[in-house]
Amino acid sequence: IAMAAEPTAATETHCPYCALQCGMALRVADGAGAGADVEVVERASFPVNRGALCGKGRTAAEVLRTGVRLGSPLVRSDGILRAAGWDEALDRIVSGFRDVQGKHGRDAVGVFGGGGLTNEKAYALGKFARVVLRTSNIDYNGRFCMSSAAAAHRKAFGVDRGLPFPLADIPKTGCAIVVGSNLADTMPPALRYLTELKENGGSLVVVDPRRTRTAAEATLHLQPVPGTDLALALGMLHLAIADGHVDEAFVAERTSGFAAARASAMAHWPERVERITGVPVPLMRRAVEMFAEAASGMVLTARGPEQQSKGTDTVGAWINLCLATGKAGRPYSGYGCLTGQGNGQGGREHGQKADQLPGYRSITDAADRAHIASVWGVDEASLPGPGRSAYELLDALGSDVKALLVMGSNPVVSAPRAAHVTDRLKSLDFLVVSDVVLSETAELADVVLPSAQWAEESGTTTNLEGRVILRQAAVTPPPGVRTDLFALHHLAARMGVSYGFPTDPETVFDELRAATSGAQADYAGITYDRIRREQGVFWPCPDEAHPGTPRLFLDRFGTPDGRARFADVAHRPAAEEPDAEYPLYLTTGRVLAQYQSGAQTRRVAELNAAEPGPFVEVHPHLADRLGVAEGELLEVTSRRGRAVAPVRVSGAIRPDTVFMPFHWGGAGRANSLTNPALDPTSKMPEFKVCAVRVERADGP
Ligand code: SF4
Repeated sequence: IAMAAEPTAATETHCPYCALQCGMALRVADGAGAGADVEVVERASFPVNRGALCGKGRTAAEVLRTGVRLGSPLVRSDGILRAAGWDEALDRIVSGFRDVQGKHGRDAVGVFGGGGLTNEKAYALGKFARVVLRTSNIDYNGRFCMSSAAAAHRKAFGVDRGLPFPLADIPKTGCAIVVGSNLADTMPPALRYLTELKENGGSLVVVDPRRTRTAAEATLHLQPVPGTDLALALGMLHLAIADGHVDEAFVAERTSGFAAARASAMAHWPERVERITGVPVPLMRRAVEMFAEAASGMVLTARGPEQQSKGTDTVGAWINLCLATGKAGRPYSGYGCLTGQGNGQGGREHGQKADQLPGYRSITDAADRAHIASVWGVDEASLPGPGRSAYELLDALGSDVKALLVMGSNPVVSAPRAAHVTDRLKSLDFLVVSDVVLSETAELADVVLPSAQWAEESGTTTNLEGRVILRQAAVTPPPGVRTDLFALHHLAARMGVSYGFPTDPETVFDELRAATSGAQADYAGITYDRIRREQGVFWPCPDEAHPGTPRLFLDRFGTPDGRARFADVAHRPAAEEPDAEYPLYLTTGRVLAQYQSGAQTRRVAELNAAEPGPFVEVHPHLADRLGVAEGELLEVTSRRGRAVAPVRVSGAIRPDTVFMPFHWGGAGRANSLTNPALDPTSKMPEFKVCAVRVERADGP
């Protein structure tokens, strides 16, 4: 996207949306006061996107304008949300939480965070839950994003970092297999890494039930039945073994557990896998040859294989293919996860997860607990234990959990089985939402706190490469708006904790550095000044003299014995398969012009014009069978609910599958249909596959 030349007097920062965290600069027209006009301009010096921005990033300043955002706290009186001052809102929250905890115990107040929060906010929110509320019930929407990849990464390599190599390595690999990612739409500037790979003579295999714009770039597109990626990976490993592509020396020297993985793969003979996946054996073999015969290779997964009730095993199976063929722990080779949310990586490292403390420290490990307790200045015994995962927490609302603080998340739109989740939210005694706009979830709240945005407060995020970067404030927020750190500081003080919750992000970051010191995600050597000077710093970075670690695992993997571990996995069907009553697969995903639950991007005129509402993508054969034409309304029904949206007819999708984007609430809410069946390890719901019935609709 062509933009103005890089200015000299603009604030360098990053896009507020996806995990690519594109560099941009903000030029402020009328000084930096509240309401100043902010222009997004090119920042070619940041290496990840080299100045390129997609439409979402280019228009990001639109959401800073008054009129589309919250301008003061809101408090519910007589059933109506009305404007209020901060003192009244904070007092109301404190009395609401005290009331619930007094009657039902500490765990009756839950906290639901977000993968878009900065590292500082994620850290402070986790600390607030454990030190002030002393509840075990904290989790976040990142559980719905990449938790299966995180779990598989940790199992295989001992460390979870989305990409263990910089994006700049991708064009240098011999073959990339991209599984269930449509990065051409979700993070468009990243597509150039794949096109450069092809220009360099490498090959690109894309695995996706839809022929997306990313798949259209592929040397080879494999189009499996939704929910069968695990079988496909096992079938490909079978072929790799049978056709002599195993790197025996690598397997012997740097891995463990191959015997079980080999036995499982050999039980998934190719013809069986073809029947399960619909992918012809010759195409599978071709993909294996491209990958195994290349001097280097990468497998990159995203939500497709991860958002399944077997997501951890599915990612493990793709990692197995890397390990068996020697494509890991070497230059330009390895497995990586293309994280989705803006701080999807950092958001999962700093204590928002039900089972983790900052730095990926375990909430059940005595030494980890003691370290964090000492940094926080509290008694280790006072720290709660593990709590419920995200969907389990939402499902417990109104029963075991009576009050909830939501920060930077919109589960009414983004949670699976969303009508049920909405009912659970409505059944709460007390709901608090902190957000930039009046999201669908905020509309249900008893108190809404208007939070400052990316351009109005500084803070770090960690992009999908593990590169810690700095968003710098360029303008001050509107008069009635405060930062989340301000809200946590004042809530803590009102609840009797008058120290430990600073409002200055850099002070929070310095404490985060101490909390993560010596941990896997070690930020101890990273400072705001270094980030500014070095265009970001890769963790682990244990001290200020350390250069940071762009590439992991080249010498040894992060497991205790330094060996990567094969996963012992076997095919199993999705939790819900089509049948006579619900004969089609539904898969959900994203579109170019909208981001996540759409709370921000739906308020940007240009983006809304490009993609104004939900739709149901169907194959022409299915459209013929249903007797519907482009634009006519379809009703999609699952065992959990219904959604109505216009038809979009496309040969890009399998005839047995329909696709809906999930960015909208209301009648066309895709997540009214999705299945909350959870992966047993990661607790990831099965967003990517369920069974539906589709018919013409008379109206919404
Ligand atoms: Fe923002 Fe992602 Fe678009 Fe880059 S690709 S401009 S980070 S939304």
